[in-house]
Amino acid sequence: MKTTSIGFLRIGAHRELKKVTESYFKGEIKSEELEKQASILRKTHWELQRDKGLDLIPVNDFSLYDTVLDTAVLLNVIPKRYVQLHLSDLDMYFAMARGYQGKNGDVKALAMKKWYNTNYHYLVPEIEDDTEIRLAGTKIFDECNEALSLGIPIKPVIIGAFTFLQLAHFSGKKTKNDVIASVIVAYTEILQRLQRLGVSWISVEEPALVTDLDNQEIELFRTLYREILKSKNGVHVVCQTYFGDVRDCYEDIVALDFDGIGLDFCEGKETYHILNKHPLPKGKVLFAGIVNGKNIWRNHYEKTLALIDKIKPLTSEIVLNTSCSLLHVPFSTRQETQLPIDCVQHLAFAEEKLTELSELSTLVQSPSLQTEAAYLENVALFASPRTLADEAVQKRVSSLTPADFIRVPDFFEREKIQKEEFHFPLLPTTTIGSFPQTKDVRKNRADFRKKRISAEQYKAFNKKKIAACIALQEEIGLDVLVHGEFERNDMVEYFGEHLNGFLFTEQAWVQSYGTRCVKPPIIWGDVSRCQSITTEWSVYAQSLTSKPVKGMLTGPVTILNWSFPREDIPLKESVTQIALAIRDEVLDLERQGIRIIQIDEAALREKLPLRKADWHTEYLDWAIPSFCLLHSGVKATTQIHTHMCYSEFNDIIADIDAMDADVITFEAARSDLTILSALSAAHFRTEVGPGVYDIHSPRIPSTQEIKSALFKMLEKIPIQKLWVNPDCGLKTRGNSEVKPSLQHMVLAAQSVRNSQ
Ligand code: GLN
Ligand code: ZN
Repeated sequence: MKTTSIGFLRIGAHRELKKVTESYFKGEIKSEELEKQASILRKTHWELQRDKGLDLIPVNDFSLYDTVLDTAVLLNVIPKRYVQLHLSDLDMYFAMARGYQGKNGDVKALAMKKWYNTNYHYLVPEIEDDTEIRLAGTKIFDECNEALSLGIPIKPVIIGAFTFLQLAHFSGKKTKNDVIASVIVAYTEILQRLQRLGVSWISVEEPALVTDLDNQEIELFRTLYREILKSKNGVHVVCQTYFGDVRDCYEDIVALDFDGIGLDFCEGKETYHILNKHPLPKGKVLFAGIVNGKNIWRNHYEKTLALIDKIKPLTSEIVLNTSCSLLHVPFSTRQETQLPIDCVQHLAFAEEKLTELSELSTLVQSPSLQTEAAYLENVALFASPRTLADEAVQKRVSSLTPADFIRVPDFFEREKIQKEEFHFPLLPTTTIGSFPQTKDVRKNRADFRKKRISAEQYKAFNKKKIAACIALQEEIGLDVLVHGEFERNDMVEYFGEHLNGFLFTEQAWVQSYGTRCVKPPIIWGDVSRCQSITTEWSVYAQSLTSKPVKGMLTGPVTILNWSFPREDIPLKESVTQIALAIRDEVLDLERQGIRIIQIDEAALREKLPLRKADWHTEYLDWAIPSFCLLHSGVKATTQIHTHMCYSEFNDIIADIDAMDADVITFEAARSDLTILSALSAAHFRTEVGPGVYDIHSPRIPSTQEIKSALFKMLEKIPIQKLWVNPDCGLKTRGNSEVKPSLQHMVLAAQSVRNSQ
């Protein structure tokens, strides 16, 4: 069986692409140097894939920033405001990606959105009424030529026409229907030109096919490809789906003139059943996504080979494939020098996944598996238990009862009790938690990590920072204070480091967007808390003031979603373990006199399934209870806050309310406060603090501007329920912006309060 992958990662083994691109942004190197380094990376990655035995190597999966943006540029989908900057093509591309501020003008970047259910983000193509969609770029052809000249067996990949239109934003009056004809012409030309290069397979990526689609959308898909595929002229085209199964449109895909169909057997729960019900007609090739492109665990050969055996009779030819692009996993486990070998052998990053594909392709043809070393090694690996099983944790999870997930007394009762307890003024003011992470704060942490200073020195510095932070908040006149989070660099890594069961890597970077990469921890074993994590800081901060200081924690869903989860136990089990660990911390904080505890769930939406029908059964039904479990043990007088970065929760508003927090703060400043109507329509009971200003910008909001925001909020939200706060933590801002901004916020709250 032949092998291929949907795409390889592009940042490089050592984040070379990030470094060289950022140097270019800073003006340290010229575009020629950037292009040169980019082509070296492409070559290295192609050759690696070839040496690992891949038969069809993806090309055009490389990008200097984002492949959706590449596709937009290829199709001339470039809003006028960028053209009018009169920059070089490369600089215009980066202007679309990151915005531009300089002598040629001042333009914001294109909108950026989460790429399906991943932590990768793409730039949203913007189609204006006078956008002339046509084949305008050459990137895909240039990269094909580059690879061909190196003798690479290529498979050009491109975001498909349907997915492109599904993702695009129409900024004027036009809709998808108005551009179908020109999109067809452009893709037709792309196929023809690739065919002239002599390629055998082209992959059109259509992940939009695994989302909920109505008849009109399916019709759009059919219309596009009925025409585009007419121009194939001998070249083979595979319709590549990923991130799930193609429940609604499998037969439509099969009926079209595609030569291959790429299906995801890892995340696509129904994929096998769909195929089993309707085997592929003769002559069509199945690109079977059997090596998980999203997670970092070794493939279970026995199971995979059994699956391949089952699908063999359902198609005339199989190409073994990854389940999605390897963009979502780190480069290679070879770079992890600190992890114990018995951990590393369970991991497969991108490079190891290539090995797995080639081993599987040998094994499927092997007359006797029992003589195959790769097979036997894999069987032995899965036979040996992981090292970190913790029976006490498992027992604690299994003995939970429904009552453990319910906080008593109920919300309304608590609201009354807490009004008595705290005597806050109307419109109480607070912040989200972090204060500026200035250079000295980061240096203190780095010095401690590298053992350049002692634990005492490290703590003394942080305590000085906390004291100054409390004094500043008192001077500004905030009602609920925070300690400032000077001890943490990242809201997940910090907690992971203090919990049993997590592994940390040195080089396991994954691209989040553009040059931004993240290094998610790995959930390795059963999770529990070794010792108190945050109490020392919170208790110290509280000792300095008579105003309440919020304890500050990260919630279980966010910790899970921003880590690599285990595959051998359900996510529900993992999240419950994390919730119990954080619950211990909640109770510790309460015991030590902290009366308000905020538990951040910044990434709550991240793993919301792509189809609405699965939202509850596969996600919310355990995600929301895990949050309830976290705080169900506290007293009625203890106030639980939560924070979410995005207000994109109109459609899950009842679930957010069911988290049963006492107060929720969230981002609203950038979304025109549309969430407010939804809150009021849903009779949202949780008290709310929709951010009154945008902390992502260095601008200092005026008192007047915050007052108007508050008056707008009061049209929809009863004053007894409204809190006043910025829309996220202040860690990325400077001290000089934070103080006046918060002063204006407090003044605005006082002024509106007095006018009531
Ligand atoms: N408490 C965190 C902070 O203030 C929340 C960060 C976030 O929501 N991303 O930084
Ligand atoms: Zn936030």
